[in-house]
Amino acid sequence: MIAFLRLLSRNRLALAGGIVMLCVVLLALIAPLLPLADPDVTNTAHRFKTPFTEGALLGTDHLGRDLLARLLWGTRLSLMVGFAAAMIAATIGAAIGIIAGYFGGRTDNLIMRGVDMLMAFPYILLALAIVAALGPGLFNALIAVATVNIPFFARNIRGVTVGIAHREFVDAARLSGMSDARIILTEILPNVVPVIVIAMSTTIGWMILETAGLSFLGLGSQPPQADLGSMLGEARSALITNPYTSVVPGVMILIIVMAINLLGDGVRDALDPRLKSGALSRPMAATLVNRTGPVPEPKGNGLLEVQDLETQFHVKNRVYKAIDGVSLHVKPGECLGIIGESGSGKSVTALSVMGLVASPPGVITGGAVRYDGTDLIGAPYKHLREMRGKNVAYIFQDPLATLHPLYKVGDQLIEAIRSHYSISSAEGRKKAIDLLRAVRIPNPEKRISDYPHEMSGGMRQRVGIAMALANDPDIIIADEPTTALDVTVQAQILALLDDLRKTRGLAIVFITHDFGVVAQLCDRVAVMYAGRIVEEGPTKAILDAPMHPYTARLMACVPELGEGKRRLEAIPGLPPVVDNLPTGCAFAERCHKSQTACRGSDIALVFDTGRAVRCLFPDNPNAEAAQ
Ligand code: ADP
Ligand code: MG
Repeated sequence: MIAFLRLLSRNRLALAGGIVMLCVVLLALIAPLLPLADPDVTNTAHRFKTPFTEGALLGTDHLGRDLLARLLWGTRLSLMVGFAAAMIAATIGAAIGIIAGYFGGRTDNLIMRGVDMLMAFPYILLALAIVAALGPGLFNALIAVATVNIPFFARNIRGVTVGIAHREFVDAARLSGMSDARIILTEILPNVVPVIVIAMSTTIGWMILETAGLSFLGLGSQPPQADLGSMLGEARSALITNPYTSVVPGVMILIIVMAINLLGDGVRDALDPRLKSGALSRPMAATLVNRTGPVPEPKGNGLLEVQDLETQFHVKNRVYKAIDGVSLHVKPGECLGIIGESGSGKSVTALSVMGLVASPPGVITGGAVRYDGTDLIGAPYKHLREMRGKNVAYIFQDPLATLHPLYKVGDQLIEAIRSHYSISSAEGRKKAIDLLRAVRIPNPEKRISDYPHEMSGGMRQRVGIAMALANDPDIIIADEPTTALDVTVQAQILALLDDLRKTRGLAIVFITHDFGVVAQLCDRVAVMYAGRIVEEGPTKAILDAPMHPYTARLMACVPELGEGKRRLEAIPGLPPVVDNLPTGCAFAERCHKSQTACRGSDIALVFDTGRAVRCLFPDNPNAEAAQ
């Protein structure tokens, strides 16, 4: 509840609406206690007094009645009728919806066709017909407004209930022998209450307007009783001569409906978990770039040069430095491994290269990514789009999440090719079969018309690789492509990637948290920790003699066959949260060699004979790059 209020108060408009509504409701509640004139006493000697005259703050109407008193009493009545109508419509509508959705079948059909019939009538006509049948009067107007809104609630709630009624927890309740009534009350109702509240909060404004409309036509509150609608109706004849008599109730209606709608939107956003997490804010096509410092000068002649790259996440007023000054380079045909614990910034590094980090909240705040000499950071979206998939392709961890479940894998492969080249269907099919064959999927002519769910995890990942190969890229960035697979399949996929690299001259950036995988595939390896590179060098040299204590600890986590008994040691503690990094070495907290100097100031990456390490007290300080 408190969390809900806090969320609500973050939405300024909703907060304003809430405060205004609170004032209006308070005024309406204390109206009987205020020193007001009697709202219904006529005094024709004081007709049409203008506002701010002695004894009549808002003036008087055509019968000399005090407008302020009538306004407050009228507001009280209008609010009461509006809320009551909303409550009645929500209760009956939700009950109908839940029953229809829960029991389904014939019950559902019968109820919903009835609701459909009600919905087929124009809204206000139906209300008029009901009042005509029941006779004019505020209570009958309330019934009419509530009735015409029942179908809206019934439809909404039925939809939600149908989705819930077949979920496992409802089945479990049924298996445990609960009665239908109890299941509805304890399992279904708590899940639909937020939806009911949301629907109510967004319709109360409507209902107040509808009631006012009926009163305006003389079908709601009867003279001398005032509500906002009847005040407007009575003021109509004096609209030109004494406009304030209409303005007073008109402004009040405007204020109430606006405040309720703003508040209602806020309530909806705060209650809907999907909106809460910002799921509806679409990320931009390419990561936002906001480089404050100078762009680094080009250096080196690798195919891909990442220089001092900084990517941050700006969430509310926190800044998460996901990667901070990362430099990498890859030559054609080379395989670079990036290794580190979960959360060390590997994926963000990979995604930043092609501007794929979601913005908001991601922002690239510094550095450069040079592909064949041109800087990609801040490059026009059109340019990035042309390069994505064609020059630099990605393979992601979960092939089931990256393949579209409703298209055949062959069509998805052809689509990947067609986004860069226009080819005929026959050509596309041939190319797709070739690709599947290249990634060693047996019987590709048949497999091409499989859906993703008809393939095993390893096959799906092969399709993922085939898709990355579709446009003959120069670099493939593979973000933990084998983490979701079992060890034998992992070995096959690694062998496949290695083979493709040799036959096609592909450069590969291979992200993993497993040193065993790095040893099999990579020429060079970069070790990341808390968004920075802590050690880099040729794989063999690092495996033989790791210099950074973190690297050594990571390697100690990998079991080796035939090595005899050795305790596998997990690294104690957790990686730091990147919105509040300690000064000095981020690993110092968990390092058995750390000293006070480690926590003092920033520690630079020191380059020496083909290796680099960011540590004041490295292991194996005299190790050389084994070439
Ligand atoms: P990994 O090395 O496991 O691939 P990531 O690159 O995904 O790690 O994440 C690096 C850091 O960035 C983590 O600390 C993570 O919490 C943070 N991060 C990633 N995405 C977001 C986001 N959308 N908002 C805030 N922080 C994020
Ligand atoms: Mg990751």
